[in-house]
Amino acid sequence: MLRTRNTRTGRAAALVAGLLLAALAAGCGKDGSPPVKGPKAEALPVYQVDTGFELPESRTWTKAKKRGYLVVGAKEDQPYLGEKDPASGIYSGFDIEIARMMAASLGFEPKTIRFRTIASANRETALQNGQIDYYVGTYTINDMRKKLVGFAGPYYMAGQGLLVRTDENDIHGPQDLAGKTVCSAAGSTPYQRIAADYPKATLVAYDTYSICVDNLLTYQVDAVTTDDAILLGFAAKAPDEMKVVGKPFSQEPYGIGVPRDDNALRDALNDALEANEKNGNWKKAYEATLGLSGAPAPTPPPIDRYPAN
Ligand code: GLU
Repeated sequence: MLRTRNTRTGRAAALVAGLLLAALAAGCGKDGSPPVKGPKAEALPVYQVDTGFELPESRTWTKAKKRGYLVVGAKEDQPYLGEKDPASGIYSGFDIEIARMMAASLGFEPKTIRFRTIASANRETALQNGQIDYYVGTYTINDMRKKLVGFAGPYYMAGQGLLVRTDENDIHGPQDLAGKTVCSAAGSTPYQRIAADYPKATLVAYDTYSICVDNLLTYQVDAVTTDDAILLGFAAKAPDEMKVVGKPFSQEPYGIGVPRDDNALRDALNDALEANEKNGNWKKAYEATLGLSGAPAPTPPPIDRYPAN
């Protein structure tokens, strides 16, 4: 499936990419330049914990209260959205902030949140099996998924885009993918859209977008496709090596995944999102995280309180 390449060029590219990845991991720019922008911990809002909050109608909330902590599904390799520091194990990013503000509204102290990394393809199963209480990780709300899980939100509107190397001049949009190799995550909506609408592209799937980015930098694929919010983060961390091209070609409303039948939890999270959008926490959280990849804070999309399952 992967295209063959000139071994010498390939090896050189792999070396360059290896160096770049090491620099990315160390949080440094090229040539020892200052560290790239990271989430600003001091700019993050402090979410007021609603200590008297009760939600006995919610099976998920009741179980978490008894257990004494929340288990929240997230991503760990998406810059400015959901990142796990390999040394400390601490998660950060816009999705993580959304998860923390939701926890505070549900009456959980910050130290009683345990994040758990779940890949795109495993989100529905994790919610169905009760492995996690809710999920916040670039999770598009759509009708197919609504048959399996519930969604609070949306809390952000993304759109599908393309990430290429800066030396790429042929790809400007999905129409240019014919004969090219494009990488996305298994079980994601961007993967499905390329498979359905751009069958002339050679599609490669991995568990995560960071593996796709490794493959892009080592010339194994020509493009990475997923939400612009994710791609802009990768590009912002290595602007000399990668760029986002063209305009978004889908709408990806991000929701908080909950167990499908837990309408009480879904309602409570929708209330909490609305309150945090009103009191300025949403904007502050955005500016301290996802905003660092370049785009100013948008107006959040309206909450969709669709009828109970
Ligand atoms: N938002 C898209 C999805 O839910 C792509 C990002 C992801 O895989 O998390 O499939």
